[in-house]
Amino acid sequence: MRLSRFFLPILRETPKEADIVSHRLMLRAGMIRQEAAGIYAFLPLGLRVLNKVCAIIREEQNRSGAIELLMPTLQSADLWRESGRYEAYGKEMLRIKDRHERDMLYGPTNEEMVTEIFRSYVRSYKDLPLNLYHIQWKFRDEVRPRFGLMRGREFLMKDAYSFDLDYAGAKHAYNRMFVAYLRTFARLGLKAIPMVADTGPIGGNLSHEFIILAQTGESEVFCHRDYLDYDVPGQDVDFDDVDGLQKIFDRWTSLYAATSEKHDAEAFEALPADAKVSARGIEVGHIFYFGTKYSEPMRAVVAHPDGSEKPVHMGSYGIGPSRLVAALIEAFHDDAGIKWPEQVAPFRVAILNLKQGDAATDAACENLYKALVNRGEDVLYHDLEERPGSKFATTDLIGIPWQIVVGPKGLADGKVELKRRIDGSRELLSMDDALARLKA
Ligand code: ATP
Ligand code: MG
Repeated sequence: MRLSRFFLPILRETPKEADIVSHRLMLRAGMIRQEAAGIYAFLPLGLRVLNKVCAIIREEQNRSGAIELLMPTLQSADLWRESGRYEAYGKEMLRIKDRHERDMLYGPTNEEMVTEIFRSYVRSYKDLPLNLYHIQWKFRDEVRPRFGLMRGREFLMKDAYSFDLDYAGAKHAYNRMFVAYLRTFARLGLKAIPMVADTGPIGGNLSHEFIILAQTGESEVFCHRDYLDYDVPGQDVDFDDVDGLQKIFDRWTSLYAATSEKHDAEAFEALPADAKVSARGIEVGHIFYFGTKYSEPMRAVVAHPDGSEKPVHMGSYGIGPSRLVAALIEAFHDDAGIKWPEQVAPFRVAILNLKQGDAATDAACENLYKALVNRGEDVLYHDLEERPGSKFATTDLIGIPWQIVVGPKGLADGKVELKRRIDGSRELLSMDDALARLKA
């Protein structure tokens, strides 16, 4: 992408309305635009990051055996009357009437709808286990939408729903998601700790929140320090291995970790002093087992091998991709701007032409640009007529991990400078060596 043809509305001033660094940087970097309280447009740069986050989530959901579908944002109120949640959900739910005066709502979550889909097609134990997920916009009329994408009213969610014959099957489904979540957050470059959590209006009795420690987090959390060094299951983890997954679950839940709603002060106090972490955290994922809470009232029943028919056991599993974009910035930034991990960066490489219009630097940049584009790199060529200082500032602000700086002085020696955003390190290299370094 040539910056001259891209849409990157950078703000030079720090926006006053933003209280936390991720919100400020997203506005300044031209990633998002507020359209109403808690409702944002994703501008092209922000959308690139969101899509990369979703791609990693999707890969790990698929790897674990979940199957993607796409349910609508608008739902019929009648479905929610079946489960009893239409009245219970309260003011967070946006209720709408269509032209025929039918009650509709903008989905805050999808347990009812996915249960309706399930019961329409699945009748037998032979079709289980099943886990269906989608990545879809949700609306919750939060009392205090704030911190930009962190607590929006309209926000993106990956929500998965598992269906099993009995508790044992459902627990395995829960473990699959538990492990998929560990892998997902680790691949994003984040340390997320599963913590015992309250189940809230979703209901049920087994639940974990995945929490990233951050000063700006809205949750108060308590955990054992050792979790910060736990390693995450590798890509070869066998999701069909019931005992193997249970072992991973047991290991990751063996030490103390709880959010304030479930905090047991006495148990926490009993930890060795240097193991106690009492901090703030950002909830990036939440998983629940709730058994037959929806399948019973909604009559989603399956035939068991012995011929009996019983309500199916369910769980639901959420991740907030739009909140994750903000959480990533909270974790990776400095005074100059964002420092994207490569796997979620909007562009992996930037080319900075320090003397736009100079025949030699223009030609070198064009060659680099073509070479990178041809091998499928996400590359942004800063080809505007701006001062070098302004180009450095923009590229650092938007957090591009690798920056190739092309100036007349270096070129005279046949060299360009390769800068890494993560640690600011620089190397003078020939163009070929720079291209080779980027491939490694
Ligand atoms: P919270 O306690 O933060 O309100 P929740 O318990 O209501 O979250 P879930 O219903 O479990 O959240 O939703 C699944 C995921 O969706 C959360 O883990 C979070 O990452 C994301 N999410 C929830 N509410 C919001 C919101 N208002 N804005 C952005 N992301 C959200
Ligand atoms: Mg909530």
